[in-house]
Amino acid sequence: MFKVAWSSFYNHPLPEGHRFPMIKYDLIKEQLILEGTLNELDFFEPIPVSDELICRTHDKTYLKNLKNLTLSNKEIRKTGFPLSLDLVKREILIAGGTVMCCDFALDGGVSMNVAGGTHHAYHDYGEGFCLLNDQAIAANYLLNAGKAKKILIVDLDVHQGNGTAILFADNPNVITLSFHGAKNYPFKKEVSDYDVAFDDDVGDEIYLELLEVTLMNIYHKESPDFIFYQSGVDALMEDKLGRLSMTVQGLKARDEMVLGFCYRYGLPVVVCMGGGYSNSLYQIVEAHSNTFRVAAELYC
Ligand SMILES: [Zn+2]
Repeated sequence: MFKVAWSSFYNHPLPEGHRFPMIKYDLIKEQLILEGTLNELDFFEPIPVSDELICRTHDKTYLKNLKNLTLSNKEIRKTGFPLSLDLVKREILIAGGTVMCCDFALDGGVSMNVAGGTHHAYHDYGEGFCLLNDQAIAANYLLNAGKAKKILIVDLDVHQGNGTAILFADNPNVITLSFHGAKNYPFKKEVSDYDVAFDDDVGDEIYLELLEVTLMNIYHKESPDFIFYQSGVDALMEDKLGRLSMTVQGLKARDEMVLGFCYRYGLPVVVCMGGGYSNSLYQIVEAHSNTFRVAAELYC
């Protein structure tokens, strides 16, 4: 079995009517245990990531302002969250989970965080529900510790991984790939190493075809030795914030493709959940749970 980062702190109460579905973090765990895909012992409680590790990716003053709650109102508005000490602690905990997942993935092939994939966080500011870029922090941890030499970040959330793209723009040891809706937020895209931007309403067939070709292309060209997978489920047709038209089954096939690729080539992979904003909470939980089910089928 593989290790999964989860904390009761992931589900942080937000003001009534806030569109971010925090409850999904509890429900995904409950569902996976209930159906027997995972058991309680597969989950581990993450330890908050250190300031030192955060500051290899983020600006020191930004981190200080986050922790002291001294960001400007404009900076807070950009994050999409009402800033609070608990929310900052939550984000530091999530990043800690992703860092810890790295070592579990090196041991067992795969490890997953029931949160994270906060790909809109930049060096010195947060946006789009992201305060700290967990996968970037974890990638820098791996490189610095000499535990990986060439990392590929596969970001399949419907929104471009703009923060991640810019954080590694000048780093040849981290290759960024983003599949996203061309007309989706962020409206000003950054340049990833590989960007695939889809027109509105693109569905399973075109998406999956391109994904297969792109993964193989990158594998042969870049020879990565470690993978991060941002497995957001907001490419679903019913998603309120996404503009693509994928089905739950299509997303499951996507997960099979990415995780199957990692499994086949023996590439350790850390998976983080990313976004999912369908009106149906059931559908969000089902789509995220499928990512774990696919991993369990391959690796257990
Ligand atoms: Zn998203």
